[in-house]
Amino acid sequence: MTYVPPLEEHRFVLNHVADLEAVSKLNGYQHADPATVATILEEAGRFFAEVMAPLNRVGDSQGSTLGDDGQVRTPTGFAEAYRKFVESGWPGAHLPAEWGGGGLPYLVGVVIQEMFKTANMAFSLCGMLTQGTVEAIQHHGSDELKELYLEKLVSGEWTGTMNLTESHAGSDVGALRTKAVKQDDGSYRIFGTKIFITWGDHDIAGNVIHMVLARTEDAPPGTRGISMFLVPKYILDAKGGPGERNDFKIVSLEHKLGIHASPTCVISFGDAGEGAVGYLVGDEMEGMRNMFTMMNAARIGVGMEGLAMAEGAYQHAVAYARERVQGRPVGASAKESVAIIEHPDVRRMLLTIRANAEAMRCLLYVAAQSGDLMFHAESEAERERHSKRLAVLTPIVKAWMTEVGVEMSSLGLQVFGGMGYVEETGAAQYYRDARIAPIYEGTNGIQAMDLVLRKLPVDGGSVVEELIEEMADVLDRMNDHTDLGGLRDELTTAIQGLADTSSWLGEKLSSDEIDDALAAATPYLTQFGTVLGGWLMAKAAVAAKQSPGEHSEDFLKQKVNTARFYCEHLLPRANGLIATIKAGNTLLDEADL
Ligand SMILES: Cc1cc2nc3c(=O)[nH]c(=O)nc-3n(C[C@H](O)[C@H](O)[C@H](O)COP(=O)(O)OP(=O)(O)OC[C@H]3O[C@@H](n4cnc5c(N)ncnc54)[C@H](O)[C@@H]3O)c2cc1C
Repeated sequence: MTYVPPLEEHRFVLNHVADLEAVSKLNGYQHADPATVATILEEAGRFFAEVMAPLNRVGDSQGSTLGDDGQVRTPTGFAEAYRKFVESGWPGAHLPAEWGGGGLPYLVGVVIQEMFKTANMAFSLCGMLTQGTVEAIQHHGSDELKELYLEKLVSGEWTGTMNLTESHAGSDVGALRTKAVKQDDGSYRIFGTKIFITWGDHDIAGNVIHMVLARTEDAPPGTRGISMFLVPKYILDAKGGPGERNDFKIVSLEHKLGIHASPTCVISFGDAGEGAVGYLVGDEMEGMRNMFTMMNAARIGVGMEGLAMAEGAYQHAVAYARERVQGRPVGASAKESVAIIEHPDVRRMLLTIRANAEAMRCLLYVAAQSGDLMFHAESEAERERHSKRLAVLTPIVKAWMTEVGVEMSSLGLQVFGGMGYVEETGAAQYYRDARIAPIYEGTNGIQAMDLVLRKLPVDGGSVVEELIEEMADVLDRMNDHTDLGGLRDELTTAIQGLADTSSWLGEKLSSDEIDDALAAATPYLTQFGTVLGGWLMAKAAVAAKQSPGEHSEDFLKQKVNTARFYCEHLLPRANGLIATIKAGNTLLDEADL
């Protein structure tokens, strides 16, 4: 399986939809000017295309395995590729320079992650969770934990995981029972069984650092009683290196629909009876709040998987469609069959995938820019504005993008016809790999509830209102460009539709008709994501019309065409959801299921 990083597209979105130039002027990011970033991304693209993409099929067909010795083994070539990944410095590219990272903006970090995910999604999960572990320790760990663990995690010498789920505690994390018993020396002993732990063990790095949620003795029930612990596979020796094996065991690996190379572990902590040695991260009972530092970053990372699988599916489908000869054009006098890419319905499928991938990329980069501004903007007010903006965007990035990712990888498979359904072409792998993303990191249903119950009401709804007003701004900028077809009209209608359902939901929440709001949550999130995509594609079209010199005329023409296709062919579906959103809960409630 090959991967060609769409570098020109990355540059265009970074510079003309997001604002890399402005980000590079923020304190601490001055080294990340657009020209330097372009060179870095070229290097990264080469690395992921040459080193990680060729292992995608190998990983899928071999999968990771658990030996009788209790050791997890990754597929052929993974350990060697990981060594190169670490040597080249990519694991910590956007992590703090203070701990040995590259100190690049998050906005650049997401482009690097996007490349890794498209080249090899199963492998990329290891890096994503390690970055989350770094963020959790950096924001909540003691100075001692930072000293002992951060450099090794930032460099990728060690990797990290996130341990929330137990068999009876999935979406309801508050039901977890893993126990933490305090010791005289201030450490804890952890007892309990976690399931579904991604990259919970492997043979590619020297230590695995688990971030485990557990309950201290006498902790209250529910999420209030949860604390976070750092539990290393190897307890550190006096020199800070991996020493004695900690008391936990990998009980089994899950057999999954996709991401076969990613070892999904059942872990029994305290298996030998002593309890696994763990160290408190943050204060007791603050575990859930602190875990959100990790979860919010991971939600953006998982949303990115929707884009990655759509991009990968597109690249493969378009290459196949150019070669597969089948059928003559209807009504044409030619007797010769043509490549399927000539047929309007195949072109519809391909352009639908491309337009959705471009819209998702725009949304991802704009969200990442808020991720930089919430920490680095000059004024407190701006930092707060972007923190709230990102809070609203996070469930949409996670759920809308992963839902679209599944649909687009399915459409990519459809382009292959029967050859998509057999494994040789690789089209099926994108579809299988994509399918986990709407499930993990908080199911998409949970994201939709988060959007409606927690994010929509922030500041009395004004964060969402402000976002919708900003969307409408782009319409003014279209005044100079009358040749954008129906784009402007469709976008105007879609933005009005979103304003309408947002205030309808606001009324439902304030009149305590919560079940109606909950029944509407998922279609509302889909509407929101679709309209955000339209807004940003329109922004891209306006920028392309202004002919930024560094891009070819052909590239810019295609940008406008794809943006128009998104807004004229796909965006009208957003308003089609209004009736569904407002249909309420009555029929759901009365159904005999
Ligand atoms: C391959 C894989 C990797 C994973 N990696 C990790 C990992 O690294 N670390 C980790 O801790 N976990 C991990 N998970 C666990 C994952 O996050 C959970 O599977 C997910 O949160 C859903 O929990 P559940 O499977 O128990 O489903 P359930 O919570 O049982 O949900 C079942 C269905 O009910 C819905 N539902 C549940 N509660 C509600 C509610 N209150 N309101 C409305 N709908 C609801 C859900 O949306 C879903 O559709 C992984 C899972 C998989 C499959």
